Amino acid sequence: MSTVGIRFRDPMVRLSRFGDDILVRCPVCSGAASVRPDRTAGEQRLAGLHRRVTCSGCGHVQYWSAPQRDSGYLLPHLSGPEDPYFGFPLWLRTEFRGRLFWAYNADHLTLLERYLTAGLRERGPAFSCCEMSMLEQLPAWMKAGKHRGGLLRAVWLLRARLP
Ligand SMILES: [Zn+2]
Repeated sequence: MSTVGIRFRDPMVRLSRFGDDILVRCPVCSGAASVRPDRTAGEQRLAGLHRRVTCSGCGHVQYWSAPQRDSGYLLPHLSGPEDPYFGFPLWLRTEFRGRLFWAYNADHLTLLERYLTAGLRERGPAFSCCEMSMLEQLPAWMKAGKHRGGLLRAVWLLRARLP
């Protein structure tokens, strides 16, 4: 299958777009669990400062609250291959040539797949300031054309793991 002619335009979303639903490996049963804003933690507008991991497999529940400092709340920098709140390994992660390929959830994986499938990649409309999109921040080894086939296989492997 040739994908050379497929154009792809970066929708310019940040990693945080996927940060409210993060699949992780449950620390108790090693099954799939999800980390989401804890909407039971009080005021709705503060839900983002509280996270809850829940495992439908074993019923494990654990809570995280943003540490408070004089200057306000400390929120973690979003990244992988662990979830930024509890530090649990992401459920959707696999080794690729000695590095870890990962995604937070199915939507994140789908966007990575669309990016990897496309032969021609275009930048989307820029943010108003100097920020970069999730795709622009991908490491060079994920942008390399020679890795495209292997990385797509990694995507499919992870898709098969979706709960
Ligand atoms: Zn569990």
